[in-house]
Amino acid sequence: MDKIEYGISNRFGLRLIYVDVSKTAKTLEERHLNGPASAEVLGHGLLAAALLLSKIKEKTERVSFQLKVDGPIKGLMTEVSGAGDLRGYTDIKILNDFDGKGSPDMRALMGDKGQLTIIHSNEKGAIYSGQIEMKTPDVRTALARYFNQSEQIPTAVEFYSHLKDFHVSDMKGLMVQKLPDADTEKFVHVLEKFNSSEVASQLESASGVKDFDSLFGLDDLSLLESRSLQFKCRCSYEKSLNILGMLSPCELQEIIQKKVPQRVTCHFCGETYKIKTEDVSTKLLEKADESKPV
Ligand SMILES: [Zn+2]
Repeated sequence: MDKIEYGISNRFGLRLIYVDVSKTAKTLEERHLNGPASAEVLGHGLLAAALLLSKIKEKTERVSFQLKVDGPIKGLMTEVSGAGDLRGYTDIKILNDFDGKGSPDMRALMGDKGQLTIIHSNEKGAIYSGQIEMKTPDVRTALARYFNQSEQIPTAVEFYSHLKDFHVSDMKGLMVQKLPDADTEKFVHVLEKFNSSEVASQLESASGVKDFDSLFGLDDLSLLESRSLQFKCRCSYEKSLNILGMLSPCELQEIIQKKVPQRVTCHFCGETYKIKTEDVSTKLLEKADESKPV
């Protein structure tokens, strides 16, 4: 089961957030028919979105993580909701130069330039939106830059991703944040563990936030909250019909007359909705009603 865990060390003023999105990453890899390289990048995007759940206060809020890059994958977008629902996609799904060749060279895949956009919104609209220009735009660095620069919270991030037989097997992440009253020396010690890749190796076998107490020497580390995360998209037949309904009356008329089956595919989850011609007719009638003078 995918999950997020929040831990705290009050004595040293550190907050730890552990996420496991392996199941969601596998589900979306299948739905989008991603090759191994884009499946790994998408998994990283899902880890970033899951860690951004820490910004959300209400169930109705959501945060999206969007990275546009000049590398061959072109970009990705992932989203998390206050209910812990995750979804997302990469712009390019099959990369013949990378697929089937082991762990991809992220630098070559993502390119030399990118732009990160984070949008935090609720049902009324955006609460926060921020953009960061990036060199070497990998997902982990982008997320760390966001917290360090935009939120001004000293933050370290590490991901562990493992593919087995060219398919996602494990996708886990850890983030440590320095609280305002933190012990700086301890935080520096923690950063060293991140830089020496000890955190990455610990993530391989870890199953929760408490598995990091001895690595960081946080004997008072306690688990604050553990919540499940899951794949869930907000798309529906009704929403897809509404999208189709944005076509001009002439175009809708043509669909109805020629009885062309219409398919609307959701970018976020790969679901395809087959829209019935009679529903297109109803849409056209609604449109005609709306345009009548009162
Ligand atoms: Zn969808």
